[in-house]
Amino acid sequence: MNNLLADADLCVKCGLCLPHCPTYNKTQNENESPRGRIALIQAWAGKHLETSKKLVEHIDNCLLCRSCERACPAVVPYGRLINNFREQIKGERDATLSVSLMKRISHNKTAGRLAQSGLKFYQTTALQKTARLLKLPELLRLDKIDRLLPDYHEPKPLAPFYPATTDVKGNVGLFVGCMGSLLDHETVDAAIKVLTAAGFNVSIPEQQTCCGALDLHDGDTQTSEQLAATNCSAFAENSLDAVVTIASGCGSQMREYRQADFAKKVVDISQFLVKSGCDLSDQLRPLAASVCLHTPCSLKNVMREEQGALKLLQQITDIKIRPLPAAIQCCGSAGSYMLDHPQMSQALLNDLLNVALEDRPEYLVSSNIGCALHISAGLRERGVALKVLHPITLIARQLK
Ligand code: SF4
Ligand code: SF4
Repeated sequence: MNNLLADADLCVKCGLCLPHCPTYNKTQNENESPRGRIALIQAWAGKHLETSKKLVEHIDNCLLCRSCERACPAVVPYGRLINNFREQIKGERDATLSVSLMKRISHNKTAGRLAQSGLKFYQTTALQKTARLLKLPELLRLDKIDRLLPDYHEPKPLAPFYPATTDVKGNVGLFVGCMGSLLDHETVDAAIKVLTAAGFNVSIPEQQTCCGALDLHDGDTQTSEQLAATNCSAFAENSLDAVVTIASGCGSQMREYRQADFAKKVVDISQFLVKSGCDLSDQLRPLAASVCLHTPCSLKNVMREEQGALKLLQQITDIKIRPLPAAIQCCGSAGSYMLDHPQMSQALLNDLLNVALEDRPEYLVSSNIGCALHISAGLRERGVALKVLHPITLIARQLK
């Protein structure tokens, strides 16, 4: 409680964060702003406010995009404040079926494999179409997960080690993430292909597990710390120059692990390649296409590595890259937020899609799988056949 008050007391109520807050911009309600939420937590921690459904709702409506934290001159640790508050009121919040299911699948490899087989059966038989016709996902309250499912692709089994295919520049560990290994094999394969082509030996430790973000944001610090310890031990090999991530949501969580030696090695894959001075331009085929670049909040506001993807993609000749304007804030995916807060999540997604589609791009790239799934679902619902890829996938596709 003391930590909570100390963090909340850092806020000088200047309001400079307000224009950066997507939920405040949508509602114009102070309780839905960073300053308002901090004031609520301050009052609660100081015992001037009871725990109530309304209080929990205002805090839970936060996307944890941390745009406010980046804008704050007083350096209020907003993310830590919200996570600590949620931990203290853990018993007062109901876990939704979708989030419980996501946690089960992400923590347990057997559950993950079962989900993969189930997904294959669901999508490669007539089951998905029939279930949707009969509105079964809605009846089972799984419609919000069902809308996110990408087309099924048979995963290739991963080896623990891939040697560089050119002069060796270094050794990296690849964090594939629970959702990456379940739903986005193309990005995992692309990361291996590009890193080895750039001269890096790639280790993929089998023991790696979920990054723990779902648990931390759900107030379960204990589970999140257990998962952090497992990942630190999985990547403990001293020779690794970096732990490279292909999902900035996971990267931002691991960057803030208490194990500082591990945390400082965590880096987004595009940023890593650019910072390592890798010039792949001679190895890439030109691409005369227009690409809309989405920068996830976790990459921008927590990892602060938003330039990597742009600089890496600029190595492709003839490509036209249009980053989304700063006025487009969070896409609304925000981990499990898109499942629990469909209205706000959809409103933010609509703003993004309206702007993204103005120039009729051939590709939309995003460095976070959660955002990519959410944006793809929105495009499918609009009947727009626009490809959403990870930047590294586009690079891998252009490799000669
Ligand atoms: S910018 Fe920082 S100090 Fe100012 S109101 Fe927002 S959180 Fe408080
Ligand atoms: S984390 Fe994002 S949604 Fe939450 S208060 Fe800050 S800016 Fe607003």
